[in-house]
Amino acid sequence: MKKTLILRVDREKPDEERIGLAAEIIRRGGLVAFPTETVYGLGADALNPHAVREIYLVKKRPLDNPIIVHVADKSDVYRLAKNVPKQAEMLMDFFWPGPLTLVLEASDIVPRITTGGLSTVAIRMPKHKVALALIKASGTPVAAPSANLAGKPSPTMVEHVIQDLYGRIDAILDAGPTRIGVESTVLDLTGEVPQILRPGGITYEDLKRVLGRVSIHPSALAKSKIYVKHARSPGMKYRHYAPKAEVILVEGETDLIVEKIRELAKQYVKAGKKVGILATDENVGKYEVGAVKSLGSRKDLSTAAKNLFRLLREFDEEKVDLIIAEGLPQKGLGLAIMNRLRKAAGYNIITVG
Ligand code: AMP
Ligand code: MG
Repeated sequence: MKKTLILRVDREKPDEERIGLAAEIIRRGGLVAFPTETVYGLGADALNPHAVREIYLVKKRPLDNPIIVHVADKSDVYRLAKNVPKQAEMLMDFFWPGPLTLVLEASDIVPRITTGGLSTVAIRMPKHKVALALIKASGTPVAAPSANLAGKPSPTMVEHVIQDLYGRIDAILDAGPTRIGVESTVLDLTGEVPQILRPGGITYEDLKRVLGRVSIHPSALAKSKIYVKHARSPGMKYRHYAPKAEVILVEGETDLIVEKIRELAKQYVKAGKKVGILATDENVGKYEVGAVKSLGSRKDLSTAAKNLFRLLREFDEEKVDLIIAEGLPQKGLGLAIMNRLRKAAGYNIITVG
């Protein structure tokens, strides 16, 4: 076991000395978990192939699932990408720092292990003072996937990082829970029309307003399993966000969702299963059996996004056998939430109505 340093820092005014310590670890090829506005990331020097290899090993991440490179300065994009189209510049001006990742042609300085063997590189600038301070102090772009074991729900609190990675990484910067709770939107700018590969913190509607034309890769909707040969983003083909419990997602009209979940919960409880229900404020009172947790109001999807991964992990701690989740509207952040829920459910989806 490694000794993992836990460095508590203020999210608004991070202590320079502690950031300096963490940055020194990154520069020496070590691994540091740090907060961003979306989820906690597990960072290493993006230009050091040995350091990046450690990320894959520690997370047990498949080697062909590329890692997002985090920058603190737009000028780094011009070093990491071969060409930076006008659209990319427009998007950076609009949404950076923020939860939008841009996929561009990679330059020769980016090690192939960072891009999972692809000729493209995914880049973003996080909107978090701790993340930005760490990247700046490291003096190098920081490759960082979510700081969880591969396949598990992403970490929105430092406790989640500790659960998954304590003793296997060099340090954790702790600045409290993350604000957004789902990961960044991954947008591919290498094709003719910009395409969302993963919905996230910047919505389809936001992008459409700025770009005019945006498409959504079928796997981003996560309606069904995607064939490997159609996977534009290798991450698409792996099971994700999955708690240990089996997950069933019920989609459709709200009243019918509630009716179906009541019926399913009773059935499974009768069969001796410990059932968790992932509900919303409007409906929490309507379930008679099962451990019920609410994501928040159906009218406040940003709160639902923030709570999602934490609640999935809580159900695991309570050792439920089965989680039955209410489907949410797919507008705004709802698209990102439903993408995570559908993947967590392993496409075990019931549509009612
Ligand atoms: P994570 O950082 O764990 O949230 O995962 C990063 C996501 O970005 C995964 O779904 C990757 O497949 C995707 N990604 C990273 N780099 C690229 C790339 N060059 N092309 C397409 N998708 C990418
Ligand atoms: Mg991840």
